[in-house]
Amino acid sequence: MTNVLTSRNPLIVLSGPSGAGKTTVARRLIAENDRFVFSISATTRLARRNEIHGVDYFFLSEVDFTTMVEAGDFLEWAEVHGQKYGTLREQLESASRLDKFLIMDIDVQGAAQIKSQIDDIIMIFIIPPSAKVLVERLRIRGTEKKDRLVERLRNAREEVARAKVFDYMLVNENLDRVMNQIEGIVTTDDQSEIEGIDLSGQIRQFQTGVDEVLDSLLE
Ligand code: 5GP
Repeated sequence: MTNVLTSRNPLIVLSGPSGAGKTTVARRLIAENDRFVFSISATTRLARRNEIHGVDYFFLSEVDFTTMVEAGDFLEWAEVHGQKYGTLREQLESASRLDKFLIMDIDVQGAAQIKSQIDDIIMIFIIPPSAKVLVERLRIRGTEKKDRLVERLRNAREEVARAKVFDYMLVNENLDRVMNQIEGIVTTDDQSEIEGIDLSGQIRQFQTGVDEVLDSLLE
């Protein structure tokens, strides 16, 4: 593998379906430990209420996003739920300069692109405890329209199917527990000490739950 980029600390990639709680986990990690810094992505989607340009995302027009793609400003970018999202190279460079651990909250396509460019990377996949909890979280977030909900659930099913390429899969049932697990993963030298979970079993169980919810929504 060609290591085209170097950083002093491993990159920490958090991935998983929307509604898994990745952003909450990432924000809390950063709030509690000043060695962690959040990678602020660029996106073409509109800001939600409470989201701030330059804090949550850089909200860009399609034209500006495309210009930056052509200029090579992105380490990776992908289309997710019909909108474009990308990680800015500058985020990695400044984290490296500051000797921080950069935490990325990106989708599985982006995670795969990053993995092919960087060796020193810890890939963590986060899933919600059940499909029902995922639907509740998506509804609270305002994904109320049925077709948008169905789209996000279908994407969640697909994303989870690709989780096997990740180093760890964590079930976000309890935020404190997930935080401890991630801090353990990042700080231990002996990765074999980290307790494993039955990946395939968890994936199957989650997919069955999503199928049931989709069946009831599409009846
Ligand atoms: P949301 O619109 O809910 O904030 O994010 C939707 C999805 O886009 C999430 O799965 C999130 O992880 C992903 N995402 C956010 N930023 C990036 C990015 O820079 N690159 C990629 N590939 N995905 C991203």
